[in-house]
Amino acid sequence: MAVADRVRVRLAPSPTGTLHIGTARTAVFNWLYARHLGGSFLLRIEDTDRERSRPEYTANILEGLRWLGLDWDGAPIIQSERIEAHRAAIAQLLASGHAYRCYASEPEIAEMRERQQAANRAPRYDNRHRDLSPEQEQSFIAEGRQAVIRFRIDDDDVITWQDLVRGEMRWAGSDLGGDMVIARRAPADQIGDPLYNLVVVVDDAAMAISHVIRGEDHIANTAKQLLLYEALGHTPPVFAHTPLILNQEGKKLSKRDGVTSISDFQAMGYCAEALVNYMTLLGWSPPEGMGERFSLEQAAAVFGFERVNRAGARFDWDKLNWLNAQVLHGLGAEPLRQLLLPLWAARGWGSAGATADPDWQRQLCELLAPSLTLLADGVEQATPLFTRPDPDAAALAQLASDGARPAVAALLALLPEGCEELSVEQAQALLAQAASQAGVKKGVLMKSLRAALLGSLQGPDLVTTWRLLHRSGEDRPRLQSSSTMP
Ligand code: GLU
Repeated sequence: MAVADRVRVRLAPSPTGTLHIGTARTAVFNWLYARHLGGSFLLRIEDTDRERSRPEYTANILEGLRWLGLDWDGAPIIQSERIEAHRAAIAQLLASGHAYRCYASEPEIAEMRERQQAANRAPRYDNRHRDLSPEQEQSFIAEGRQAVIRFRIDDDDVITWQDLVRGEMRWAGSDLGGDMVIARRAPADQIGDPLYNLVVVVDDAAMAISHVIRGEDHIANTAKQLLLYEALGHTPPVFAHTPLILNQEGKKLSKRDGVTSISDFQAMGYCAEALVNYMTLLGWSPPEGMGERFSLEQAAAVFGFERVNRAGARFDWDKLNWLNAQVLHGLGAEPLRQLLLPLWAARGWGSAGATADPDWQRQLCELLAPSLTLLADGVEQATPLFTRPDPDAAALAQLASDGARPAVAALLALLPEGCEELSVEQAQALLAQAASQAGVKKGVLMKSLRAALLGSLQGPDLVTTWRLLHRSGEDRPRLQSSSTMP
């Protein structure tokens, strides 16, 4: 394909909130499509709502996309910097007669809506100022009225397009709510702030976007935007409307469902790789034989809209947790350590002594990995390795049971001085020797050792745990206090 024909897609987030899972999933589909076809994935920050847009939200969105591995091409386009191009397009539409000034005041519009409501009709603008005579217009201006700018939408317009997800689409102009406002109210010799549908079309055309991939909540906007493409003389892009993400009840996922921001998922301990894998599955079915666990690159190799479903995608926490566990189990000690280090550091762990040794930390990661679902589990489960736990009731009962304390005391007496590496063989031999000296079964000693070291009867592999605590010099004091407990 010639460069000009190349696929160019974009994500157009509004920085009026943190990166939402719906926007992130749209980003995933755009990214996959671009990477699949060797095209470009562009970013446009739609910050024209001055009251609600905030730089910290832009930062959160960019950070979230980077964290997910959804790299974009080139510098992000900042929509507010393009206002002159938006105004020029509006001037063009005014000049060509596709747009006009509407002087209807807010109370007049409100009254019209009330009447429609009372008659049980859908709210729509009645196009009352569409064909004002120059005299009427002059008299409104003389009254000091300001005007919005509206784009003409004829009731008998029929808008059709071939949607990559939904197939043949048809919208009647009469279902679009009457002539659409494209610029906010301003004095009649000016062009007020340009509005969403207009600026999106102007920017997508200027960025030579070939495919607009976005949520199906934008379908009515697409119909309006196609009319604008035509009026402005631009070739429209191809559209693909992706299914919505639904909650457990089958309703559109919203803030009320709790966690919806990518940064919240991150804080809960989900890995980028698992989350992005999961989002790919929200509405897309991988080809037969691929399974559900894959990297972004693997998905990009086979991604296409023929496997994107029309039906809404229900959010499934169990599947997300399963994927996160898969990622964590397969990560390897060093990458897992890199992910856990900041979480440990936040608790002041792992910065001094043996526990600061990367090698010790890697062994700890190997020990914990098989039982992790969330990254946060690697904090919780590491707690007794970094801090001395208070024994729980079951551990206390174990230590009070027959033969437990003498067995722990025997092991303590045999324990080599210092914090030299304790090999597995050495540890096993010490256990056998101590059990026989104390006259207890090895099982009794093992259970008591666990209670003494971890303050609990649950936990990861005992010998490995012990060896780690031995290297940090922590086994001796714990055995000591357990063996002398009243
Ligand atoms: N700023 C719009 C949004 O966040 C963009 C929609 C579009 O992709 O055109 O919903």
